[in-house]
Amino acid sequence: MQLSPAQTDRAAGVLLGQAVGDALGVPYEFGTARFDASTGPQMSGGGLGNYAPGEWSDDTQMAVCVAEVLATGAAVDDAALEAVADGFLRWHADGPADIGAQTSSVLGRTRRRTHGIPTRTAMVEASRGLHERTGRTAGNGALMRTAVVGLHRLDDRDATAGAARAIAELTHWDPLAGDSCVLWSEAVRVAVTEGVLDLRSGLDLLPAARRDDWLRRIEEAETREPTSFRDNGFTVTALQAAWSSTHHTQPSEPGPDHVAAALHAAIAIGHDTDTVAAIAGGLLGARYGVSGLPARWTRRVHGWPGLRSHDLVRLAVLTARRGVGDAAAYAPWSGTRGGAGSELLPEAGRGEAGPQGEVLDEVAGVGEAEPGGDAGCRVVGVGEEPLGLEDHPSVDELLGADADRRDHRSRQGALGVPEAPGVVGDVPVLREALLDRVAEP
Ligand SMILES: [Mg+2]
Repeated sequence: MQLSPAQTDRAAGVLLGQAVGDALGVPYEFGTARFDASTGPQMSGGGLGNYAPGEWSDDTQMAVCVAEVLATGAAVDDAALEAVADGFLRWHADGPADIGAQTSSVLGRTRRRTHGIPTRTAMVEASRGLHERTGRTAGNGALMRTAVVGLHRLDDRDATAGAARAIAELTHWDPLAGDSCVLWSEAVRVAVTEGVLDLRSGLDLLPAARRDDWLRRIEEAETREPTSFRDNGFTVTALQAAWSSTHHTQPSEPGPDHVAAALHAAIAIGHDTDTVAAIAGGLLGARYGVSGLPARWTRRVHGWPGLRSHDLVRLAVLTARRGVGDAAAYAPWSGTRGGAGSELLPEAGRGEAGPQGEVLDEVAGVGEAEPGGDAGCRVVGVGEEPLGLEDHPSVDELLGADADRRDHRSRQGALGVPEAPGVVGDVPVLREALLDRVAEP
């Protein structure tokens, strides 16, 4: 399907939103650091894997394994599942600092048994075998990596559901794990295509016998406080924790305020904080897009296998576009900060945006998006940092919640301009124009 700029922005936010939640939740994973409700979550690293500040953990690492396959545009058939399974094994062989017990068991067993049979076959046998032996394979480790699956067929809800379950079953055989992935991936698909948060949208994609139970669980998440879902290593409770945090924090104005409040609530629950926040973050990113994610966080995330925020944007957009277009198919809308911020951070100011900013202003009329005219957007090309800002402590002070809120309004306004093909709606055309302009001396 042809994506509008707003849909592209939302698709681009899925992996990035997940990574933000993950990296914010890492320090507090299973009580490794005390959560201070007065300051909110801090991207200070640590956790079970002793991660660097801003580094994402196994949740996003495994999501990247999935995304690298889906970004080729492949349908989730045997070949794609084989590639995902191989990706999981490569990740496992790299010695992740932190890995769920169930995933570790399945991947370890698979690595010992792949001689002569496809990896996916060995992995599914290990997954099913573990379920038959223990009856307990509904950990949250499949749900934590499922958001990106919602992007792979944006116009096909059945294909989305089938892919979500098949990828879940590689490591998590319990039907509840697959169900939770179907619901969450479909909610991501609906958030990207329609711009709404609706976890009920995928209920009819579940086997009829389990729908009522899931509806009850969703209602429970909406009526009970997030902190009720503390035992969130279980995929059902993890889904409820993430949804309860999202549902209970809907503010009057959607966007970065909701993202920040929901992730705060998700992490304040405790226990598996990075996973619950990663799950919530994927859906919030799908709803509000890159433009709705707080830039003070998005520009700091990084992680295995040596990726940064713009790589997650690239993978997500290529997935949404079925692999069509190149790495710069989506040009992230850079944060534009007026006033003191732009003086101190020249990359973010319109005056330093150079020909790219001018072209975008020209094409999309972005310069008029915010009264005062100090609000150009900057487009970043291949290989550049999407937000163009180096990590620097003072940046956090400059790029606070007010700036995020202002930018979100401004950029949503810009994205709302008429979407005539080849003008704004057609990103490759826009990009061609940018590259032409940049290539000039
Ligand atoms: Mg983790």
